[in-house]
Amino acid sequence: MRCIKCRRLWPTSDYFLGCPNCARAGAPASVAPDFDRLPSLSGPADLSGWLAYPGAPILGEGNTPLIDLPPLAEKTNVKRLRIKNEGSNPTGSHKDRMSAALVRRARDVGASKLAVASSGNAGVSLAAFASNAGLECVLVTTADIGQGWRRAIELHGAEIVMAPSSMARWDIVSARAMRGEWYPATNFAMPAVGGNPFAVDGLRTIALELHLDVNEDPPTDIIVPVSRADLLWGLAKGYDDLASQGLIKKPPRIHAAEPFPRISRVLAGESYFGHFDGRSPLSSLGGTTVTYQAIDALSRSTGRVITPSTDDTLRAQSELARVGLFVEKSSAITLSALHILRRQSIIDENASVILIVTSHGYKDQP
Ligand SMILES: [Zn+2]
Repeated sequence: MRCIKCRRLWPTSDYFLGCPNCARAGAPASVAPDFDRLPSLSGPADLSGWLAYPGAPILGEGNTPLIDLPPLAEKTNVKRLRIKNEGSNPTGSHKDRMSAALVRRARDVGASKLAVASSGNAGVSLAAFASNAGLECVLVTTADIGQGWRRAIELHGAEIVMAPSSMARWDIVSARAMRGEWYPATNFAMPAVGGNPFAVDGLRTIALELHLDVNEDPPTDIIVPVSRADLLWGLAKGYDDLASQGLIKKPPRIHAAEPFPRISRVLAGESYFGHFDGRSPLSSLGGTTVTYQAIDALSRSTGRVITPSTDDTLRAQSELARVGLFVEKSSAITLSALHILRRQSIIDENASVILIVTSHGYKDQP
């Protein structure tokens, strides 16, 4: 395991509070699985050697479709525009890649009760994968959880614990996780460090799949929705690994789209472990914290941070629906960000762009 900030190596463990060295210094950062060597990668069968917790799909997760959208490429005036549709995962979001890795890790360390602080995609995903694995699952959420989410989570047999506020969820998970009673999937550290490192490792598969899918026409730019940046970091790390093995000449730039200024404030000079107030109807991208992994991923991949307005993102959701893709509002932010990146000429007309659409539109609940 290696700290993503001070680069120190640590024995294999979960590091829920991040690197002990960086935590002591007051600037927390996550720790990630580190690989001595990576095998060749010529097809999906080779992926196992690239992952901390590999295995055949449990519920059909991964290998999501990559969809070419020439009409939207024309409209945004780029050479090529494709969508990696993570809404095709079994519970309808990219979180299934994390949940699959997490249940494998939990079994490996003998954990029997998984915990997730979530009011949405992460909760329903972990509840599904835990039930399949015969593990207990507890979801710590708030009273505003959507009825559809709640029903799915209860049907999967997970226990629901109500917290008085979003931040209070982390206190509840923290107390039980530090006593070893719950095995946490999501961040509970303050300042935040990000999701369970083995779950985040599972997100590297998106970069590896894209490499195998589009080797003949690799993207120049990828845009991802961002909150605490598990996806952003996993994707950037996957591409770093591909580059370090000589499998790609130049990794794509990976841009982050956030619903209100958080990472952009940090890049403008604020401390990343501050508090960043903001509200947005893009519920999957909420939160008032920034993690070091966001900063690390953007600096490695030379990507930009874009903060589209909610109105622009709702228009982008409609644009995607008009080409047949009903996506969660929080995913449509990638297209509204592309419009801005084009207007600012950060992405030019020769670009080959991939938007990571993280979740299905049926997930937006009243
Ligand atoms: Zn460190």
